[in-house]
Amino acid sequence: MRLAAYMKTLMSHILAAMAPRHDGAIFPNAPLWPLAPACWHGRDEHDRATMTDPIFKTSAEDAPRRSLDSEGRLDLIGLSREEMAEAFAELGEKSFRVKQVWLWLYNRGVTTIDEMTNLSKPLRDRMQERFFISRPQVSREQTSVDSTRKWLLRFGDRNEAETVYIPDPDEERGAVCISTQVGCTLTCRFCHTGTQKLVRNLTAAEIVGQFLIARDSYGEWPTPNETGRLLSNVVVMGMGEPLFNYDATVNALKILTDPDGISLSKRRVTLSTSGVVPRMYDLGRDVGVNLAISLHAATDDVRSEIMPINKKWPLKELMQACRDYPGATNARRITFEYIMLKGVNDSDADARQLARMVKGIPCKFNLLPFNPWPGSTLECSDWARIERFSDVLAGLGYSAPIRTPRGRDILAACGQLKSDSQRERKARGLAADASLVGVLPETSAPATPAA
Ligand code: SF4
Repeated sequence: MRLAAYMKTLMSHILAAMAPRHDGAIFPNAPLWPLAPACWHGRDEHDRATMTDPIFKTSAEDAPRRSLDSEGRLDLIGLSREEMAEAFAELGEKSFRVKQVWLWLYNRGVTTIDEMTNLSKPLRDRMQERFFISRPQVSREQTSVDSTRKWLLRFGDRNEAETVYIPDPDEERGAVCISTQVGCTLTCRFCHTGTQKLVRNLTAAEIVGQFLIARDSYGEWPTPNETGRLLSNVVVMGMGEPLFNYDATVNALKILTDPDGISLSKRRVTLSTSGVVPRMYDLGRDVGVNLAISLHAATDDVRSEIMPINKKWPLKELMQACRDYPGATNARRITFEYIMLKGVNDSDADARQLARMVKGIPCKFNLLPFNPWPGSTLECSDWARIERFSDVLAGLGYSAPIRTPRGRDILAACGQLKSDSQRERKARGLAADASLVGVLPETSAPATPAA
């Protein structure tokens, strides 16, 4: 009986999903969660929906969780402490090895097992047979006149991503902006990256590897104490929606914030999402890093038009998830990123509506001038309008600075990276693009339109 009822529900949803779509292309008319397999039983409706809607497809092209090289050796980078303990147990080694190796990898930054000189030579030899230490290959490194530095990184399967270091103009420190996916399933209208289909999720090793490369580049090994660091912050706001690559992203964040290794304070790590509401609750519980929201509109009508994800998780649900986010206080405010689009979201009424909407949430806004890209029909608001918008929000008690794009001369600003990387990649005959949308200066706050 239960099977018959399930099949009936399934058919009705398939028929509904095949009906003409109300938005022209992207969203099916019917939720597809009844298609969820049995292994999802017990998860809430949001989770099922996240996993089944085509636009929210997150894992079909997943890279393997554990990375092996061509000789079948396991990558030590990206393993959690528990996974590493398991791997050493298979080698007949006690768990205290994990701490030793962890320090070499993430405090000293070694790239070969032979450099782990407090391990015996026979052990190192056995480790060489079972393990390797990965680093993405640096295809290109560029430094802007404003000191922004960008790396085009190539992974084992020749997919590429760009990572950017954004120095704080006022202090001897800055943020490393990292990507979590090659491509993106979402299609935010203002985002050049959103025009590129998802190729695959990055692994935890590839996400952490972006930060390791940045440290290699600045020679910031061993891990300096917190006050002496140039690479002091991480912003997860490069290419892709990090909460659609949840496990790898969370594993990477745990490695980045582990006190025995890279040792970034959670207060110096900010994850930006386009609004994957159920995963925001998970993130708050699992890692509790700072949260940024790609908001970009004050009403559901406008936000659904420019960010299709809003049709799945509209503003009311998104704002509630922000209110519920653990650790959001006046000292650790949620950042709302707001890209300024002429005639779309930039009126005084929009600013006032924003203030009403976020009431009670410890938050601030980042106003981002839109960087037009070829094929986009959107325009950037006039400068006077952006200033006025900022003033209205400030008058209502909300910090709303205007962020100036950085690294324009090396195509590291909003909307510029993809075209540059794609051109180069096409010229070199590579398969995929993995560029960041852009970066802006503030190191502790989100600054790109990418989620
Ligand atoms: S803004 Fe973020 S979520 Fe939206 S298309 Fe760009 S990368 Fe994807």
